[in-house]
Amino acid sequence: MKRIYLDHSATTPIDPEVAELMKTFSLECYGNPSSVHYFGRLSRKAIEEARKQIAVLIGADQKEIIFTSGGTEADNLAIQGAAKAKARKGRHLITSSIEHHAVLDTFKYLAKNGYELTILPVDAEGLVSADDVAGAVRKDTILISIMHANNEVGSVQPISEIGKIAHDNGSLFHVDAVQSLGKLPIDVEKMNIDLLSVSSHKIYGPKGVGALYVRTGVRLAPTAFGGSQERKMRPGTENTPGIIGFGKACELSGQRMNEENRRLIRLRDKLINGLQSSISDIKLNGPTGDKRLPNNVNVSIPFVPGETLLLNLDMVGIAASAGSACTSGSTDPSHVLLAMGIDPEIAHGSLRFSLGLQNTEEEIDYVLQELPRIVNQIRNC
Ligand SMILES: *Cc1c(COP(=O)(O)O)cnc(C)c1O
Repeated sequence: MKRIYLDHSATTPIDPEVAELMKTFSLECYGNPSSVHYFGRLSRKAIEEARKQIAVLIGADQKEIIFTSGGTEADNLAIQGAAKAKARKGRHLITSSIEHHAVLDTFKYLAKNGYELTILPVDAEGLVSADDVAGAVRKDTILISIMHANNEVGSVQPISEIGKIAHDNGSLFHVDAVQSLGKLPIDVEKMNIDLLSVSSHKIYGPKGVGALYVRTGVRLAPTAFGGSQERKMRPGTENTPGIIGFGKACELSGQRMNEENRRLIRLRDKLINGLQSSISDIKLNGPTGDKRLPNNVNVSIPFVPGETLLLNLDMVGIAASAGSACTSGSTDPSHVLLAMGIDPEIAHGSLRFSLGLQNTEEEIDYVLQELPRIVNQIRNC
Protein backbone atom coordinates (compact mmCIF):
# COMPACT_ATOMS: atom_id res chain seq x y z
CA MET A 1 0.00 0.00 0.00
CA LYS A 2 1.14 3.52 -0.77
CA ARG A 3 1.68 5.47 2.45
CA ILE A 4 1.02 9.20 2.65
CA TYR A 5 2.72 11.14 5.43
CA LEU A 6 0.72 14.18 6.56
CA ASP A 7 2.13 14.62 10.07
CA HIS A 8 5.08 16.98 9.50
CA SER A 9 4.25 19.06 12.57
CA ALA A 10 4.93 16.00 14.72
CA THR A 11 8.22 15.37 12.97
CA THR A 12 9.70 15.39 9.46
CA PRO A 13 11.65 12.77 7.53
CA ILE A 14 15.36 13.58 7.47
CA ASP A 15 16.59 15.20 4.26
CA PRO A 16 18.84 12.69 2.40
CA GLU A 17 21.47 15.40 1.95
CA VAL A 18 21.48 15.98 5.71
CA ALA A 19 21.67 12.26 6.49
CA GLU A 20 24.57 11.82 4.05
CA LEU A 21 26.52 14.69 5.59
CA MET A 22 25.94 13.33 9.10
CA LYS A 23 27.13 9.87 8.09
CA THR A 24 30.39 11.16 6.61
CA PHE A 25 30.88 13.47 9.54
CA SER A 26 30.21 10.80 12.19
CA LEU A 27 32.77 8.48 10.63
CA GLU A 28 35.47 11.07 10.04
CA CYS A 29 35.10 13.79 12.67
CA TYR A 30 34.91 12.13 16.03
CA GLY A 31 37.10 14.51 18.03
CA ASN A 32 35.71 16.22 21.10
CA PRO A 33 35.17 19.85 20.02
CA SER A 34 36.70 20.99 23.33
CA SER A 35 40.00 19.21 22.56
CA VAL A 36 42.86 21.34 21.29
CA HIS A 37 44.31 18.72 18.90
CA TYR A 38 43.61 18.33 15.21
CA PHE A 39 40.57 16.07 15.71
CA GLY A 40 39.00 18.43 18.21
CA ARG A 41 39.62 21.43 15.98
CA LEU A 42 37.87 19.75 13.04
CA SER A 43 34.75 19.20 15.15
CA ARG A 44 34.88 22.72 16.58
CA LYS A 45 35.08 24.23 13.12
CA ALA A 46 32.09 22.21 11.91
CA ILE A 47 30.02 23.26 14.95
CA GLU A 48 30.80 26.92 14.41
CA GLU A 49 29.83 26.59 10.75
CA ALA A 50 26.45 25.12 11.80
CA ARG A 51 25.98 27.89 14.34
CA LYS A 52 26.34 30.39 11.50
CA GLN A 53 23.80 28.54 9.32
CA ILE A 54 21.19 28.70 12.09
CA ALA A 55 21.95 32.34 12.93
CA VAL A 56 21.52 33.39 9.29
CA LEU A 57 18.02 31.91 9.15
CA ILE A 58 16.80 34.01 12.10
CA GLY A 59 18.78 37.22 11.60
CA ALA A 60 21.04 36.61 14.61
CA ASP A 61 24.77 36.66 15.21
CA GLN A 62 26.35 33.22 15.48
CA LYS A 63 27.60 34.03 19.00
CA GLU A 64 23.97 34.20 20.10
CA ILE A 65 23.14 30.55 19.31
CA ILE A 66 23.21 27.90 22.04
CA PHE A 67 22.74 24.27 21.04
CA THR A 68 20.35 22.11 23.04
CA SER A 69 18.83 18.64 22.80
CA GLY A 70 15.74 20.04 21.05
CA GLY A 71 12.86 22.46 21.26
CA THR A 72 11.75 21.23 24.67
CA GLU A 73 15.11 21.88 26.28
CA ALA A 74 15.43 25.25 24.54
CA ASP A 75 12.03 26.30 25.95
CA ASN A 76 12.97 25.09 29.43
CA LEU A 77 16.37 26.79 29.39
CA ALA A 78 14.89 30.07 28.15
CA ILE A 79 12.04 30.22 30.66
CA GLN A 80 13.67 28.73 33.75
CA GLY A 81 16.98 30.45 32.98
CA ALA A 82 15.40 33.89 32.51
CA ALA A 83 13.06 33.53 35.49
CA LYS A 84 15.93 32.60 37.80
CA ALA A 85 18.30 35.25 36.46
CA LYS A 86 15.69 38.02 36.81
CA ALA A 87 14.02 36.92 40.06
CA ARG A 88 15.38 39.89 41.99
CA LYS A 89 13.85 42.34 39.51
CA GLY A 90 10.38 40.79 39.62
CA ARG A 91 8.45 37.56 39.59
CA HIS A 92 5.61 38.12 37.15
CA LEU A 93 5.45 36.02 33.98
CA ILE A 94 3.12 36.15 30.95
CA THR A 95 2.32 33.45 28.43
CA SER A 96 -0.67 32.27 26.37
CA SER A 97 -3.13 29.43 26.77
CA ILE A 98 -2.15 27.77 23.47
CA GLU A 99 1.58 27.26 24.06
CA HIS A 100 3.26 23.90 23.62
CA HIS A 101 3.44 21.93 26.87
CA ALA A 102 7.20 22.49 26.97
CA VAL A 103 6.38 26.17 27.60
CA LEU A 104 3.08 25.94 29.46
CA ASP A 105 4.18 23.28 31.93
CA THR A 106 7.49 25.04 32.62
CA PHE A 107 5.54 28.18 33.54
CA LYS A 108 3.13 26.17 35.68
CA TYR A 109 6.10 24.70 37.53
CA LEU A 110 7.44 28.22 38.17
CA ALA A 111 3.99 29.38 39.30
CA LYS A 112 4.14 26.71 42.01
CA ASN A 113 7.59 27.91 43.05
CA GLY A 114 7.28 31.56 43.91
CA TYR A 115 6.40 33.19 40.58
CA GLU A 116 3.12 34.76 39.51
CA LEU A 117 1.76 33.69 36.13
CA THR A 118 -0.71 35.36 33.76
CA ILE A 119 -2.01 33.05 31.03
CA LEU A 120 -3.57 35.10 28.23
CA PRO A 121 -6.65 33.84 26.37
CA VAL A 122 -6.90 33.52 22.57
CA ASP A 123 -9.75 34.34 20.21
CA ALA A 124 -11.83 31.79 18.30
CA GLU A 125 -9.11 31.51 15.64
CA GLY A 126 -6.35 30.83 18.15
CA LEU A 127 -4.81 34.30 18.02
CA VAL A 128 -3.32 36.18 20.97
CA SER A 129 -4.17 39.89 21.05
CA ALA A 130 -1.28 42.35 21.47
CA ASP A 131 -3.69 44.59 23.39
CA ASP A 132 -4.16 41.81 25.93
CA VAL A 133 -0.39 41.63 26.37
CA ALA A 134 -0.24 45.41 26.83
CA GLY A 135 -3.00 45.14 29.43
CA ALA A 136 -1.24 42.40 31.35
CA VAL A 137 2.31 43.79 31.65
CA ARG A 138 3.38 45.23 34.98
CA LYS A 139 6.52 46.76 36.41
CA ASP A 140 7.53 43.37 37.81
CA THR A 141 6.88 41.45 34.55
CA ILE A 142 10.27 39.90 33.81
CA LEU A 143 9.38 37.56 30.96
CA ILE A 144 6.75 37.28 28.22
CA SER A 145 6.62 34.09 26.15
CA ILE A 146 4.37 33.77 23.10
CA MET A 147 4.83 31.17 20.38
CA HIS A 148 5.32 32.27 16.77
CA ALA A 149 3.05 29.68 15.16
CA ASN A 150 0.85 27.16 16.90
CA ASN A 151 1.59 23.49 16.28
CA GLU A 152 -2.04 22.37 16.30
CA VAL A 153 -4.07 25.00 14.46
CA GLY A 154 -1.27 26.90 12.69
CA SER A 155 -2.21 30.34 14.02
CA VAL A 156 0.57 32.92 13.49
CA GLN A 157 0.87 35.39 16.35
CA PRO A 158 1.59 39.17 16.13
CA ILE A 159 5.16 38.65 17.37
CA SER A 160 6.70 42.01 16.38
CA GLU A 161 3.94 43.95 18.12
CA ILE A 162 4.16 41.86 21.28
CA GLY A 163 7.95 42.16 21.24
CA LYS A 164 7.69 45.93 21.14
CA ILE A 165 5.36 45.92 24.15
CA ALA A 166 7.79 43.66 26.02
CA HIS A 167 10.77 45.88 25.27
CA ASP A 168 8.95 49.13 26.05
CA ASN A 169 8.20 47.58 29.42
CA GLY A 170 11.73 46.28 30.00
CA SER A 171 10.59 42.64 29.95
CA LEU A 172 12.41 39.81 28.20
CA PHE A 173 10.58 38.30 25.22
CA HIS A 174 10.80 34.57 24.48
CA VAL A 175 9.34 32.99 21.33
CA ASP A 176 8.86 29.30 20.63
CA ALA A 177 9.52 29.25 16.89
CA VAL A 178 9.76 25.48 16.50
CA GLN A 179 6.86 25.36 14.03
CA SER A 180 7.69 28.52 12.10
CA LEU A 181 11.44 28.04 11.53
CA GLY A 182 12.05 27.60 7.82
CA LYS A 183 8.37 28.28 7.07
CA LEU A 184 7.97 31.93 8.01
CA PRO A 185 10.58 34.67 7.84
CA ILE A 186 12.13 35.26 11.27
CA ASP A 187 14.20 38.29 12.21
CA VAL A 188 15.01 38.49 15.90
CA GLU A 189 16.01 42.15 15.56
CA LYS A 190 12.93 43.40 13.72
CA MET A 191 10.66 41.24 15.88
CA ASN A 192 12.15 42.43 19.19
CA ILE A 193 12.95 38.89 20.33
CA ASP A 194 15.43 38.14 23.15
CA LEU A 195 15.11 34.37 23.31
CA LEU A 196 13.97 32.05 20.50
CA SER A 197 13.59 28.26 20.58
CA VAL A 198 14.05 26.10 17.48
CA SER A 199 14.26 22.38 16.78
CA SER A 200 15.97 20.38 14.06
CA HIS A 201 13.58 17.49 13.54
CA LYS A 202 10.70 19.75 12.50
CA ILE A 203 12.71 21.03 9.51
CA TYR A 204 14.06 17.78 7.97
CA GLY A 205 17.05 17.62 10.32
CA PRO A 206 17.94 14.89 12.84
CA LYS A 207 16.01 14.35 16.07
CA GLY A 208 17.40 15.27 19.48
CA VAL A 209 19.00 18.59 18.60
CA GLY A 210 17.76 22.17 18.77
CA ALA A 211 18.94 25.61 19.66
CA LEU A 212 18.14 28.64 21.74
CA TYR A 213 18.89 32.11 20.45
CA VAL A 214 20.02 34.29 23.38
CA ARG A 215 20.35 37.99 22.57
CA THR A 216 23.79 39.45 23.38
CA GLY A 217 23.67 40.91 26.87
CA VAL A 218 20.82 38.68 28.08
CA ARG A 219 21.92 36.49 30.97
CA LEU A 220 20.32 33.15 31.76
CA ALA A 221 20.87 31.14 34.92
CA PRO A 222 22.04 27.68 33.84
CA THR A 223 19.67 24.79 34.49
CA ALA A 224 22.47 22.21 34.36
CA PHE A 225 26.06 22.30 35.59
CA GLY A 226 29.25 20.80 34.25
CA GLY A 227 31.68 21.90 31.54
CA SER A 228 31.91 25.36 30.04
CA GLN A 229 30.34 24.52 26.67
CA GLU A 230 27.79 26.86 25.07
CA ARG A 231 28.88 29.87 27.11
CA LYS A 232 28.31 27.81 30.28
CA MET A 233 24.57 28.03 29.68
CA ARG A 234 24.35 24.46 28.38
CA PRO A 235 27.21 22.25 29.58
CA GLY A 236 27.95 18.82 28.12
CA THR A 237 29.85 17.48 25.11
CA GLU A 238 28.15 18.71 21.97
CA ASN A 239 26.04 16.39 19.78
CA THR A 240 28.35 17.16 16.90
CA PRO A 241 26.74 15.10 14.10
CA GLY A 242 23.30 16.31 15.15
CA ILE A 243 24.43 19.93 15.20
CA ILE A 244 26.05 19.62 11.76
CA GLY A 245 22.84 18.07 10.43
CA PHE A 246 20.71 20.81 11.96
CA GLY A 247 22.92 23.48 10.37
CA LYS A 248 22.55 21.89 6.95
CA ALA A 249 18.78 21.56 7.40
CA CYS A 250 18.60 25.29 8.19
CA GLU A 251 20.57 26.16 5.08
CA LEU A 252 18.34 24.01 2.88
CA SER A 253 15.06 25.23 4.36
CA GLY A 254 16.18 28.84 3.98
CA GLN A 255 16.97 28.26 0.31
CA ARG A 256 13.63 26.68 -0.52
CA MET A 257 11.33 28.59 1.85
CA ASN A 258 9.61 30.98 -0.56
CA GLU A 259 8.99 28.57 -3.37
CA GLU A 260 8.02 25.70 -1.07
CA ASN A 261 5.58 27.90 0.83
CA ARG A 262 3.75 28.91 -2.32
CA ARG A 263 3.38 25.22 -3.17
CA LEU A 264 2.26 24.24 0.34
CA ILE A 265 -0.31 27.04 0.54
CA ARG A 266 -1.85 25.80 -2.72
CA LEU A 267 -2.05 22.22 -1.40
CA ARG A 268 -3.29 23.39 2.01
CA ASP A 269 -6.12 25.44 0.53
CA LYS A 270 -7.03 22.69 -1.88
CA LEU A 271 -7.37 20.28 1.04
CA ILE A 272 -9.35 22.75 3.17
CA ASN A 273 -11.74 23.71 0.37
CA GLY A 274 -12.14 20.11 -0.78
CA LEU A 275 -13.01 18.86 2.70
CA GLN A 276 -15.42 21.73 3.32
CA SER A 277 -17.32 20.99 0.13
CA SER A 278 -17.50 17.21 0.63
CA ILE A 279 -18.17 16.73 4.37
CA SER A 280 -21.26 18.27 5.91
CA ASP A 281 -20.87 20.23 9.18
CA ILE A 282 -17.08 20.11 8.98
CA LYS A 283 -15.40 23.10 10.62
CA LEU A 284 -11.96 24.57 10.00
CA ASN A 285 -10.07 25.29 13.23
CA GLY A 286 -7.70 28.24 13.21
CA PRO A 287 -7.28 31.26 10.94
CA THR A 288 -7.16 31.48 7.14
CA GLY A 289 -4.71 33.07 4.71
CA ASP A 290 -1.51 34.68 5.97
CA LYS A 291 -2.41 34.14 9.60
CA ARG A 292 -2.15 30.38 9.12
CA LEU A 293 1.01 28.29 8.71
CA PRO A 294 1.43 27.28 5.05
CA ASN A 295 1.32 23.57 5.89
CA ASN A 296 -1.42 23.28 8.53
CA VAL A 297 -4.97 21.96 8.14
CA ASN A 298 -7.03 21.33 11.28
CA VAL A 299 -10.69 20.41 11.07
CA SER A 300 -13.43 19.24 13.40
CA ILE A 301 -15.92 16.70 12.19
CA PRO A 302 -18.82 16.66 14.66
CA PHE A 303 -20.08 13.35 16.02
CA VAL A 304 -17.11 11.37 14.68
CA PRO A 305 -14.36 10.62 17.23
CA GLY A 306 -10.93 11.80 16.03
CA GLU A 307 -9.28 8.53 17.06
CA THR A 308 -11.69 6.50 14.95
CA LEU A 309 -10.95 8.72 11.96
CA LEU A 310 -7.20 8.39 12.49
CA LEU A 311 -7.38 4.60 12.62
CA ASN A 312 -9.52 4.46 9.50
CA LEU A 313 -7.22 6.85 7.66
CA ASP A 314 -4.21 4.78 8.68
CA MET A 315 -5.89 1.68 7.25
CA VAL A 316 -5.96 3.34 3.82
CA GLY A 317 -2.37 4.56 4.17
CA ILE A 318 -2.91 8.14 5.37
CA ALA A 319 -0.94 9.31 8.42
CA ALA A 320 -2.48 12.33 10.19
CA SER A 321 -2.90 13.29 13.82
CA ALA A 322 -5.63 14.19 16.27
CA GLY A 323 -4.82 17.45 18.01
CA SER A 324 -1.09 17.22 18.69
CA ALA A 325 1.10 14.13 18.76
CA CYS A 326 1.91 14.63 22.42
CA THR A 327 -1.72 14.63 23.50
CA SER A 328 -2.95 11.86 21.24
CA GLY A 329 -2.93 8.63 23.17
CA SER A 330 -4.67 10.41 26.01
CA THR A 331 -8.38 11.07 25.73
CA ASP A 332 -8.33 14.68 26.93
CA PRO A 333 -9.34 17.05 24.17
CA SER A 334 -6.62 19.46 23.04
CA HIS A 335 -5.96 22.40 25.38
CA VAL A 336 -5.52 24.57 22.27
CA LEU A 337 -8.96 23.81 20.84
CA LEU A 338 -10.55 24.26 24.28
CA ALA A 339 -8.80 27.64 24.68
CA MET A 340 -10.35 28.68 21.35
CA GLY A 341 -13.76 28.06 22.88
CA ILE A 342 -14.49 24.91 20.93
CA ASP A 343 -16.94 22.55 22.61
CA PRO A 344 -15.07 19.55 24.17
CA GLU A 345 -17.38 17.19 22.31
CA ILE A 346 -16.47 18.79 18.96
CA ALA A 347 -12.78 19.07 19.90
CA HIS A 348 -12.74 15.28 20.24
CA GLY A 349 -13.54 14.96 16.55
CA SER A 350 -10.62 17.05 15.34
CA LEU A 351 -7.95 16.08 12.85
CA ARG A 352 -4.67 17.71 11.93
CA PHE A 353 -3.00 17.29 8.56
CA SER A 354 0.45 18.88 8.38
CA LEU A 355 1.94 18.98 4.92
CA GLY A 356 5.57 18.80 3.85
CA LEU A 357 8.17 18.65 1.12
CA GLN A 358 7.23 15.29 -0.34
CA ASN A 359 3.47 15.73 -0.50
CA THR A 360 1.95 15.98 -3.96
CA GLU A 361 -1.33 17.12 -5.43
CA GLU A 362 -2.24 13.47 -6.12
CA GLU A 363 -1.86 12.71 -2.42
CA ILE A 364 -4.25 15.51 -1.52
CA ASP A 365 -6.71 14.15 -4.11
CA TYR A 366 -6.46 10.75 -2.44
CA VAL A 367 -7.27 12.23 1.00
CA LEU A 368 -10.21 14.09 -0.54
CA GLN A 369 -11.45 10.81 -1.94
CA GLU A 370 -10.95 8.72 1.22
CA LEU A 371 -11.87 10.98 4.16
CA PRO A 372 -15.44 11.85 3.04
CA ARG A 373 -16.04 8.16 2.34
CA ILE A 374 -14.77 7.19 5.83
CA VAL A 375 -16.87 9.88 7.51
CA ASN A 376 -20.01 8.72 5.70
CA GLN A 377 -19.30 5.14 6.66
CA ILE A 378 -18.92 6.04 10.36
CA ARG A 379 -21.91 8.38 10.39
CA ASN A 380 -24.16 5.77 8.76
CA CYS A 381 -23.51 2.95 11.19
C1 LIG B 1 7.76 19.95 18.58
C2 LIG B 1 7.59 21.20 19.35
C3 LIG B 1 8.35 21.46 20.51
C4 LIG B 1 9.29 20.44 21.08
O1 LIG B 1 10.45 20.27 20.30
P1 LIG B 1 11.31 18.92 20.48
O2 LIG B 1 12.53 19.18 19.66
O3 LIG B 1 10.47 17.80 19.96
O4 LIG B 1 11.63 18.80 21.92
C5 LIG B 1 8.19 22.67 21.14
N1 LIG B 1 7.34 23.59 20.68
C6 LIG B 1 6.59 23.39 19.57
C7 LIG B 1 5.66 24.46 19.11
C8 LIG B 1 6.69 22.19 18.88
O5 LIG B 1 5.93 21.98 17.80
